[in-house]
Amino acid sequence: MTERSDIREVAHWIRTSNYTAVLTGAGMSTESGIPDFRSAGGWWRQVDPRKVATVEALETDYPFFRDFYRARIEGLRACRPHRGHYLLAEWEAKGWVHAVATQNVDGFHLQAGSRTVYELHGSLHTFRCHDCGSPAEEPEFMEGRSCSRCGGRLRPNIVLFGELLPSDAWEGALAAIRWADLVLVIGTSLEVYPVSQLPSMAKGKLVFINLEPTAEDGMFDRVIRGKAGEVLAALDGELRAAEA
Ligand code: NAD
Ligand code: ZN
Repeated sequence: MTERSDIREVAHWIRTSNYTAVLTGAGMSTESGIPDFRSAGGWWRQVDPRKVATVEALETDYPFFRDFYRARIEGLRACRPHRGHYLLAEWEAKGWVHAVATQNVDGFHLQAGSRTVYELHGSLHTFRCHDCGSPAEEPEFMEGRSCSRCGGRLRPNIVLFGELLPSDAWEGALAAIRWADLVLVIGTSLEVYPVSQLPSMAKGKLVFINLEPTAEDGMFDRVIRGKAGEVLAALDGELRAAEA
């Protein structure tokens, strides 16, 4: 893991910051048992999830697209937020975190109790018709039914490659990151556009908590190499010690 002095310093930044924004990616949820995209190879019929999470896959092979997302949603039912998700929610309640922007579609930040959450890539918990936009219910999608209004293809409310991000989430995340005097980026390869651009829009200090090195490590003031849940727990220990 990382140097104790780094943990101490970042904990100090968290305590003294007036506005802290958090940006998370798939690495935030691997400790909950959900594979990230990098380690997902072979997870589902040897298919690269990056090739299924596309408008093209939905429109050219809907049964394949639907089966993939059914399997993801079933997998999600067996998983829960971990300690790191709960700590971010507690830190928000204590005024140490002010907003969480996430690329994750698992809904875990909200489930753990974070309140200001920008789900930049949508959520696997709500559904709509791809063709007419009408809302739909999870069982309709899971049972393979068509849209009750137009007979179209049902889908989760997630952002596929080739689609725009929901503008309210994007605007909220952008404003929070620009405003923040500290941004914690956790568990993302920073390879997916446009979220990959967000850290460079920060004016405050930038901290990266990630298991593996990425091409973007150089832009951060501190890089803490480790597992999100463990690093957040270590930071929480420092924060509590300083509070006592
Ligand atoms: P990514 O898979 O490209 O990168 C994940 C990064 O997290 C890697 O650099 C890896 O080293 C790191 N990591 C893995 N486990 C970690 C841990 N325990 N602690 C800290 N770091 C850890 O993920 P991305 O950048 O978020 O991009 C993937 C895209 O796939 C996103 O658009 C996202 O919407 C989607 N996705 C979401 C989920 C989810 O909702 N849980 C899961 C898989 C993919
Ligand atoms: Zn419809």
